[in-house]
Amino acid sequence: MVRILPEPPIWKAAIAFDFDDTLVMKGESGPLDPHFFECIQWVRASYGAAWGIATGRSLYQLVEGFNEASFPVLPDFVIAREREIYFPGQFGRWVPHEDWNGRCERDHDRLFRKSKRVFRKVRTFIEGQTSARWVSVEGDAAGIVASSDAEMDEIQNFIEGLSKKADLSFERNSIYLRFSHRNYHKGSGLVEAAERWGIGPSRILTVGDNLNDLSMFQPEICDACGCPSNAVEAVKEYISRRGGKVANKPGSAGVIEVLGHYFAP
Ligand SMILES: [Mg+2]
Repeated sequence: MVRILPEPPIWKAAIAFDFDDTLVMKGESGPLDPHFFECIQWVRASYGAAWGIATGRSLYQLVEGFNEASFPVLPDFVIAREREIYFPGQFGRWVPHEDWNGRCERDHDRLFRKSKRVFRKVRTFIEGQTSARWVSVEGDAAGIVASSDAEMDEIQNFIEGLSKKADLSFERNSIYLRFSHRNYHKGSGLVEAAERWGIGPSRILTVGDNLNDLSMFQPEICDACGCPSNAVEAVKEYISRRGGKVANKPGSAGVIEVLGHYFAP
């Protein structure tokens, strides 16, 4: 049975973790390292740290992930699809941050309507010259899945070379790419979510492994950051340059290392 934790007396910090290849490794199924939950519950109680998951997954896919990894407790917040904010409600129900999610959806609808011509160009390019797939499912009007990192590099170059609306951006996670409005990403979602507890960037820690985590590692989003040893090179370099913690271990073991670096028992 998944529990919602009681609130600490004072909220003083916020921590956001990426999910895939940060907490849960590719190809691994089954429960997550129980030490992670011991560790995060201790940090939450001792430091008043609200913790959450910031992911490219949809809320539905993330809840599936929580079940597969046997999460014994729910996080204090979720940022899904790199932009939608949810908080845990009663009976395991997730409650959307209505204001933010509504604005996010309207801004995306408007921008994507104005970007049809650019999307057509990208689609023609990837379908004609690569073996990547154009993905268009409900709620995800514009995304791409490439067959390799090198192919996605090529697609990213193509997209960056196009003239397009200044607000049109994208989030890339290895072979996956999702178009987005440049004001909405893991970073801006996290700042908005932490605002619920009156916590500002100077009291935020972020942990992730891939390019779509870079938005939340920025100094205007968080004071502290870290990554597991399996993070992509660009992320490791960025974290080192910022004086963050690059762990020696992969996945959740590395995440525990990052927590140990910032929160002394
Ligand atoms: Mg990841």
